[in-house]
Amino acid sequence: MMAVKQTAGREALGEFAPKFAQLNDDVLFGEVWSREDKLSLRDRSLVTVTALMAQGLTDSSLQHHLMAAKQNGITKSEIAEILTHAAFYAGWPKAWAAFRMAKDIWTEDGTDARTAHANAMVFPIGQPNDGFAQYFTGQSYLAPLSTQQVGIFNVTFEPGCRNNWHIHHADRGGGQILVCVAGRGWYQEWGQEARALHPGDVVNIPVGVKHWHGAAADSWFSHLAVEVPGENGSNEWLEAVDDAPYGKLDQ
Ligand code: MN
Repeated sequence: MMAVKQTAGREALGEFAPKFAQLNDDVLFGEVWSREDKLSLRDRSLVTVTALMAQGLTDSSLQHHLMAAKQNGITKSEIAEILTHAAFYAGWPKAWAAFRMAKDIWTEDGTDARTAHANAMVFPIGQPNDGFAQYFTGQSYLAPLSTQQVGIFNVTFEPGCRNNWHIHHADRGGGQILVCVAGRGWYQEWGQEARALHPGDVVNIPVGVKHWHGAAADSWFSHLAVEVPGENGSNEWLEAVDDAPYGKLDQ
């Protein structure tokens, strides 16, 4: 039995109410939610969402549990059926409130999320980045913005996509500047903690530093990649970023 890892209690109330935080993280989630051999996470989500809606608790806790329900495998058509069914027992207006939230959460994926991401930036997503696909995990896209003087490319990563470890080389000058334009991503230098990236962030990558950049596991991400002019510039592509350390970044 794998314990469901939960740190929300300690993060929100660890200082103010340490016992409540401990009960929330270690008992409610660590013990009750973790009894997957007795009842699946999916079914526990179904019960929890219904219980919260029945109380009219359509706040951030319902939002959190609807997102968890989606992660735990409840599909769009199932949540629509669950809330419709519960509406007769819990109350019509409560179902309306829950549906408003559920609709956003279950339409975030697929083409809707890509469209939302495209609408959040002024630069195009461009074309599938086939030329560099061998150096990426997941699908990326490339839109050349400037190909004279200084090369500037808008690079878009689907959720979970990142490039391999790599090094920008040059004899003089060189390196790369990232300007984050939309979504959420990560940048990491070899031997250092990963740095979370948000729109407006700028990363200066010196020559000779082994690093990778890409999207968060659950978010599209775009950055401008500025090629700093240098002599004898080249890119050295290395190994992929392992799933295990990458998967821990958002936890
Ligand atoms: Mn780079």
